[in-house]
Amino acid sequence: MNQAPKLRVVVAGGGTAGWMAAAALANTLGSVIDLTLVESDAIGTIGVGESTIPPLLLFNRLLGINEAEFMRATQATFKLGIKFENWKDVGESYFHSFGAAGKDHWSAGFQHFWLSGLKRGHLDSYDEYSLELKAALEGKFAHLPDDRMNYAYQLDSALYAQFLRKKAEGDGAKRIEGRIVQVELDSASGDIAALLLDGDRRIEGDLFLDCTGFRALLIEGALHAGFDDWTHYLPCDSAIAVQTASVRPAIPYTRAIAHDSGWQWRIPLQHRQGNGIVYCSRYLDREAALERLLGSVEGTVLTQPNVIAYRTGVRRKQWHRNCVAMGLSGGFMEPLESTSIHLIQRAVLRLIRMLPGGPVSQRDVTEFNEQTFTDMEQIRDFLILHYKVTNRRDSAFWRQCAEMAIPDSLEQKIELFRETARVFRKNEELFAENSWIQVMLGQGIMPNSHHPVADKLRQDELDRFLTALRSSVSETVAGLPQQMDYISGYCAAKEEAPA
Ligand code: FAD
Repeated sequence: MNQAPKLRVVVAGGGTAGWMAAAALANTLGSVIDLTLVESDAIGTIGVGESTIPPLLLFNRLLGINEAEFMRATQATFKLGIKFENWKDVGESYFHSFGAAGKDHWSAGFQHFWLSGLKRGHLDSYDEYSLELKAALEGKFAHLPDDRMNYAYQLDSALYAQFLRKKAEGDGAKRIEGRIVQVELDSASGDIAALLLDGDRRIEGDLFLDCTGFRALLIEGALHAGFDDWTHYLPCDSAIAVQTASVRPAIPYTRAIAHDSGWQWRIPLQHRQGNGIVYCSRYLDREAALERLLGSVEGTVLTQPNVIAYRTGVRRKQWHRNCVAMGLSGGFMEPLESTSIHLIQRAVLRLIRMLPGGPVSQRDVTEFNEQTFTDMEQIRDFLILHYKVTNRRDSAFWRQCAEMAIPDSLEQKIELFRETARVFRKNEELFAENSWIQVMLGQGIMPNSHHPVADKLRQDELDRFLTALRSSVSETVAGLPQQMDYISGYCAAKEEAPA
């Protein structure tokens, strides 16, 4: 019996996007597709992207990855959230933690009960009701029964790509080292027919994944899918990254420290710390940004500064003809909430669900693009919130942020919360209610009212309810080990990885 020819999938690029895509496709469909990845060591990867969010656990689980092995291989630490410093005002900070605070009632979220409590003498901050937040600030972590602690990872991106490469190759993916010098289009259909590599090599395929990073060689260079610029909402356009030696045990969270023209990150790994400055080149030049970064890092600098210019926005068509953009080739919305690796994960899993059995269906393409665009718009709104809602007016950058027009979708969310304390999550939105609540409160929005159901509780009932929740958080945190002690028993990387 004649077997149908296997779908030939070609992944162009071997950064985090390329290897996540290759590892997932090989693991799920390795025996029914022909999978090739082309990458160029000479060109290299972007070399950043080290802070993640909880859905990555699901990705790893789907691939059958052992967590301790993965953490050892990538020098990973646990991440319970992000501490935002100087965002609402210079000298003030707040925490966006993973997981939920308190306990919701079906009719109203916990924030309504907390607000009712504030009115009736319970003056504790909202933070007191978040297990992940309290554990993070004490530097603690452990796996808890019933997955009670929500977490993600802080990892070394180069080691993560290597780890995934091993996995993908083990599942049958072929890797070709080479530089793509041309993308050959089929003259009749306009689809991509092949990648032409240096050394006169030609790689044919049926479906191509553009994982070439900001270059976007296939989706834009060859297919001109178009780009929606979002710089008017997210004005930072430059970053510089350096790695430093650790000077203290790694904390289980990422720091995002605002400055007068953007912000800085600190991502603690087992063997070193990742640091970077993100800024708007209209207000800060490269030399000044570098000086500020190097003047503020702790520990010996281990790497040359990695200077990255970018444009915030999204590729108009993520899937166009027989090419799907993944990773930075599909767009970039700045790293403030660590969402880019997650968008790769969503794109890969979405593609697997829609993988064509034969010729590409335009209906799949339309569906894929609409779903991806919704994801990106929702994340964009969440990011803008951090810049727009602030008391800072101390620099031209922050004044621009305060004055900028924002999307109606975000305006509606902010005003709804301000008036009623309500937040609604739409269409499988990535950031759940508690994320919006923490950032809106943290950036300085205090709701004017709350749900009447919370005021129906008698004072003694409310006292018991809030006290029990707070005690449960503090008792659980008291029993947790320091994260580095936990890591040393669970997943300590054997040797220091080279910087
Ligand atoms: P790249 O890493 O650039 O890989 C591109 C690949 O294509 C490379 O293998 C390259 O060699 C190959 N290639 C390019 N041209 C050719 C050619 N002609 N021939 C052959 N091969 C070629 N994301 C997060 O989730 N968390 C973060 O904390 C985070 N921080 C970030 C900070 C900054 C400043 C920036 C800019 C991004 C950050 N990101 C973060 C995003 C994250 O870095 C990327 O989403 C992720 O690394 C994926 O990149 P990529 O694989 O798309 O591109």
